[in-house]
Amino acid sequence: MKSRTRVAVIGGGIAGCSTLYHLTQEGWSDVVLIERDELTSGTTWHSAAQVTNFGMNQTMVGLKSHSIALYKALRDDPAYPVGYHHGDGGIRLANTRAQMQGYRHFASMARGMGVEFEVIDAEECARRHPLISTDNLLGGLWDGEDGDIDPAQLCQALAFHARRAGAEVYRNTAVTGLRQHTDDTWTVTTTQGSIDADIVVNACGYRVNEVGAMMGVHHPVTSMEHQYFVTEDIPAIAEAGHRMPLLRCPISDYYCRQEKGGLLIGFYEQACKTWGMDGVDPNFSNDLCPDDLDRVMDVLEGAFARMPVLTEVGIKRVVNGPITYTIDGAPLVGPIPGKRNAFCIIGLRAGLGEGGGHGWILAQQIVHGEACYDTWCLDPRRFAEHANVELTALKAIEDYQNEFRFHFPHEHRPAGRPAKTTPLTPILSAERAAFAVVNGWERIDYVKPHPGFQPTPGFGFDETFDLVAAEVANVQANVGLTEVNGFTRIEITGADRHAFLERLFCGPVTRRDGRVGLGYMLNHHGMLKSEATIANLPAGDRGPARVWYGSAAASERHDMDWLRAHLRAGEDVQIQSLTNDQTILVLAGPNARALLSSCARGDWSNRAFPWLSVRECFVGIAPATVMAVSFSGELAYEIHVPNPSLYAAYLALRDAGKALDLELFGARAIESMRMEKGFLHWKADILTEFDPFETSLDRFVRLEKPEFIGKDALLNRVQHGPRKHLVTLHVETETAPAHGGASVMAEGRVVGSVTSGAWGHRTGLNLAYGFVQPDCANDGDSLQVDLCGKMFDATVIPMSPYDPAMKIPRCQDVT
Ligand SMILES: Cc1cc2nc3c(=O)[nH]c(=O)nc-3n(C[C@H](O)[C@H](O)[C@H](O)COP(=O)(O)OP(=O)(O)OC[C@H]3O[C@@H](n4cnc5c(N)ncnc54)[C@H](O)[C@@H]3O)c2cc1C
Repeated sequence: MKSRTRVAVIGGGIAGCSTLYHLTQEGWSDVVLIERDELTSGTTWHSAAQVTNFGMNQTMVGLKSHSIALYKALRDDPAYPVGYHHGDGGIRLANTRAQMQGYRHFASMARGMGVEFEVIDAEECARRHPLISTDNLLGGLWDGEDGDIDPAQLCQALAFHARRAGAEVYRNTAVTGLRQHTDDTWTVTTTQGSIDADIVVNACGYRVNEVGAMMGVHHPVTSMEHQYFVTEDIPAIAEAGHRMPLLRCPISDYYCRQEKGGLLIGFYEQACKTWGMDGVDPNFSNDLCPDDLDRVMDVLEGAFARMPVLTEVGIKRVVNGPITYTIDGAPLVGPIPGKRNAFCIIGLRAGLGEGGGHGWILAQQIVHGEACYDTWCLDPRRFAEHANVELTALKAIEDYQNEFRFHFPHEHRPAGRPAKTTPLTPILSAERAAFAVVNGWERIDYVKPHPGFQPTPGFGFDETFDLVAAEVANVQANVGLTEVNGFTRIEITGADRHAFLERLFCGPVTRRDGRVGLGYMLNHHGMLKSEATIANLPAGDRGPARVWYGSAAASERHDMDWLRAHLRAGEDVQIQSLTNDQTILVLAGPNARALLSSCARGDWSNRAFPWLSVRECFVGIAPATVMAVSFSGELAYEIHVPNPSLYAAYLALRDAGKALDLELFGARAIESMRMEKGFLHWKADILTEFDPFETSLDRFVRLEKPEFIGKDALLNRVQHGPRKHLVTLHVETETAPAHGGASVMAEGRVVGSVTSGAWGHRTGLNLAYGFVQPDCANDGDSLQVDLCGKMFDATVIPMSPYDPAMKIPRCQDVT
C-alpha cells in the first residue's frame, strides 16, 4: 500500500467502485479504494440489480440515465465486458387515477432530461407483459430502457478501468481509524498499515456508521432486511419469445424481473424489519440474513393475483439481505456536514441502478467543488441534527412500506412526527393548523375548517384552494399572522464581519445599523450557492454590534459549512447558529403596523421604521427583533422571538389582533403570494445549475466590486451569454398548478422546465416559474406547459404581477 494519496475511498461496493472510476474519469489518478473483504462483499453481490431511468426529480433522472449510458458502454467494452440486459423495458403499475396522473407528471418531468417514458393503459401493460392479469389495473408507466445488470461484473469492470487509469485497489484491508490533521488532511489506519489522504470518502454500505464513528459523526442511515426469491423456469416465458419486462407494483408492493428462464420477485412487506440497529457482526461479509417468507405473505398474494403463473412454479433460491435507507429515501452523496475534506456516498437503496450516477456526481463535487446538476436532493447536509438513529429507523420503515408509492405534492407522511416543534405547535394545532414538515420542523401549512379535514392527494388544485384564498384575502385586506420556525439564523460578530460578507456576496452588503438587505452567494463557478438576508443590529444590552444572517430553514448546515470554509486566518469574525433558539412570527397586511404599534413601544411609522429596517423591542413582555421585510408583498413585519418567550409574544399579538381582524395564515398562502411577487425559493428556483443573470437576479449583482467568490467565473459566463432564463408564466388552466419539473414546450419541443407553481389568489393568475431557452424568454412569448400529460397554453409575463413597484411594503401611499 502506498503511503499517501489524494483520495482514499473506503468500501468496495458499487458506491466505492463507481466513485473511484469517476475520479479517474475526472482526471485524478492518485486515488485508492480500501475494501475490508473482497469487492462487492457487502450488499452489492446479491442485489437484484435492476436499472431504470425513473426518478422523483430531474437530478435523479439525469444521474440514472448516466448510469444506463455508462453501463451500456461497459457492456460493449471488450476489455472487460459486463452482463447487462438493457432494454427489457419496465412497467410501474397503477390502479388509481391519482397514480396515473403522477406518472404523467413524471413523464413530463423526465422529458426535460432527454428521457422518454410512456403512460400506457392496462391492456397495453398486458400486451407488453404477457404473464400479468389486468384485474384491478388501470395502466402504468413504461420505461423502455429498464433492465438489470450483473452487479459483481459491473464493480469489477469499474475497478479494472480505474486501475488502468492509475488508481489502486486494496482488498482484504479494513479501515480501523481515521484521524484528521490541522491542515484538514487525514491519516487512514487500516489492518495493513496506514495511508495519508487529502480527502476521504465513506462508501461503506451498511457499515456506514462504523466508519462514521471513526470521524465522530453519525449518519442518518439505517438498514432494512429485504427479500427476493427466484423461481424455477416458467414455460410461458420461453413461449413469449422475448424477455419479460420488469414490473414494479405500488398496489401490492413487489418488483419482478426475468432471471434466466424464471422470475425474480422482491418484496416490500408491511411487517418489515430494521437490521443492524445494535451493531453489525464483524464477520457478516458475503453473507445473508435468514429467509423469512412468512413475513411477505401479504405481498406474495398480490403478486400471485397479478401473475397467476407463479402459483404453478417452485422457488429455487431465496435471498434476504440488508439494504440501506435514509430519512427521505434518497441517498447521502456529497460533503459530510461539519467536516472538511470528507465526503460520503451512502444510504443507497437502489445502488445498482443509481450508483453509476452517484459516483459521477460525487467525483465531480470532489474534483470541481460542484456537479453538473444541482445535488441538493442528495446533499448530506439537507438534514439537521434531529436526524438521529431512532428517527431514521422510523422513516426507513415508513419508506420501505411505501417503496413504490411516490409522494404526492404537499404530502408529509406521519412517521417520526413531530420531530421539531416550538412552544406554539400545540397552540396552533388547537387552532386547527395543518402542518407541513420543513427540515423536521412542523410548520403551519393552512388552517383546517374542521379537525377531520383531509384534502385528497393529487396533482390538481385540491380542497384547500378556497381556504388558502380566504387566508390570502384576509392578509390583503386586514392582517394575518403565521409562524416561520426553523428559519436559519446565524449571528456574525467581529470587526471584520462586513468585509467577510462582502467577499462572499456578489452584490452590495448593507452595513448600516438598523438596516436589512438581501443578497446572493455564488460558488467558484459563478453559479448560485445561497440566498440570505443580512440585518445589522447595533451594540446594546442584548449583545455587541452584529449581523443576523437569515436563510431558508433547510440551508442550516449547508450555509454554516460555506461560511466557515471561507473564514480567513486572523479575520475577526465569529459565527454562531441561533436557528434552534429563535422563531419568527410574521405579521402581514395593512393592519400590521397598527397591530405592532399596539403591542410594542416606539414609533413604528413609515418614517421612523421604513421597509428594510430592523430594531430590537419588546412585544408585550417578550424580547423581540423586528424586521420590516415582506415575502408576501404586503406591509409586513418579521418578529424574531427567543423560543422561551414565543408564547408570550403570540398571546400579545393575538389579543391585540382581535380588534384588527387578525387571522392565521400558512405556508400555502405564502407560496401563492411570493409567486405573485417574483420572489424565489432556494433549491426550487435558486439552483447551482444557473448563474444570477440566468436566474433574473441581475439587480443583486455588482460586477464592479473588486472581489467576490465566483466573480471571475461569472465574468467568463457573461461573455458566452445565458443558456436559460428564469421566467414567470401565466398558465391557462384553473384545474392544476404547475409542478416542479414539468416540461415547458414551444412548437412541440421542450424548451425548459418548471421550477415552482401556484395559484396567485390576488391576481387570479395560475403562475409558474421556469427556466426556458433565451429565445422563448421574452414577455409575451407564447409557450405551453405539459401538466400531467395535458398541454396548456402559457404566456411569459413580467415577474411580480402584483404591485411590481413594491409600493405596498414601501408604504408609498401612506404618510
Ligand atoms: C435483496 C436486495 C435486492 C436489491 N435489488 C436492487 C435492485 O434491483 N436495483 C438496485 O439498484 N439496487 C438494489 N438493491 C440495493 C443495492 O444492492 C444497494 O443499494 C447497493 O448494493 C449498495 O452498495 P454500496 O456500495 O453502498 O454498499 P455495499 O455493497 O454494502 O458496499 C460497502 C462496502 O464497504 C466495505 N466496508 C465496510 N466497512 C469497511 C471498512 N471499515 N473498511 C473497508 N471497507 C469497508 C464492505 O465490505 C462493502 O464491500 C438491492 C438490495 C438488496 C439487499
